[in-house]
Amino acid sequence: MDCLFCKIIKREIPADIVYEDDEVLAFNDINPQAPTHILIIPKKHIATLNDIEEADLAIIGRLQYTAAKLAKERGFAEDGYRVVMNCNEMGGQTVYHIHMHLMGGREFTWPAG
Ligand code: 5GP
Repeated sequence: MDCLFCKIIKREIPADIVYEDDEVLAFNDINPQAPTHILIIPKKHIATLNDIEEADLAIIGRLQYTAAKLAKERGFAEDGYRVVMNCNEMGGQTVYHIHMHLMGGREFTWPAG
């Protein structure tokens, strides 16, 4: 399968990995939009949010849990941070393997652009 993030999981493409367990991988975004910008992905290939099945709910919860864990470890959990998942073209998705953006270390505005 020609998926960039599956290749990162298989170590076929290098990435700055910051967390890994049986189901989840987290690595620094190559083009950070905040002092901390980490991508948290399931090891299972799921193309978009629309493709999540009921059997995947625990994995999706683990993405969120990992985001909070990493935010706490990095010391910005109390101040606040931004978690984003983009879906399809109008939502700004460019890599079709679902990923949670964890961004911290600066103030974010709303609404998102
Ligand atoms: P999306 O636009 O799909 O929500 O987010 C994709 C993210 O993947 C972008 O923030 C982009 O900078 C990041 N990205 C794209 N290619 C690579 C890569 O090869 N390595 C890493 N670490 N991040 C990437």
